[in-house]
Amino acid sequence: MNFHDYYPVDVVNGPGTRCTLFVSGCEHQCRGCYNQSTWQLASGRPFTQVMEERIIADLQDTRIPRQGLSLSGGDPLHPQNLAAINRLLERIAQECVGKDIWLWTGYRMSELSADQRKTIARINVLIDGKFVKEQHDPALIWRGSSNQIIWHLR
Ligand code: SF4
Repeated sequence: MNFHDYYPVDVVNGPGTRCTLFVSGCEHQCRGCYNQSTWQLASGRPFTQVMEERIIADLQDTRIPRQGLSLSGGDPLHPQNLAAINRLLERIAQECVGKDIWLWTGYRMSELSADQRKTIARINVLIDGKFVKEQHDPALIWRGSSNQIIWHLR
């Protein structure tokens, strides 16, 4: 997996103070996408072991307590990102107990594959669906267009 950006302290992408990872790779090609540079899987930088360790350390940091991790992109549920995302989520569950995971995807909940469903079984909140320009509403919180649904899974 590659990634484009990482915010170790973020108060915009989800509730509270969080870490946010923007991964590479998205096949949805939404018209009006604000993040087109992330579409190619090979764009950005490799998500290395060092990056994984950094996220774990940031989530464990008691000087700036983080509520959890936000996963955005690109699309964290792109089939080729699932292995790396699963590995990261597994570590967070074991080493960062109590942190919540929010994940933004362009797939709709109803069209997720069995593998994608296994991944979202490990997260707390899913924001699903493509960005639809005609349904864009700047007043919406944590989603760009009104077709997208915030699923509070657990
Ligand atoms: S799902 Fe997100 S990143 Fe992918 S094309 Fe749509 S708006 Fe852009």
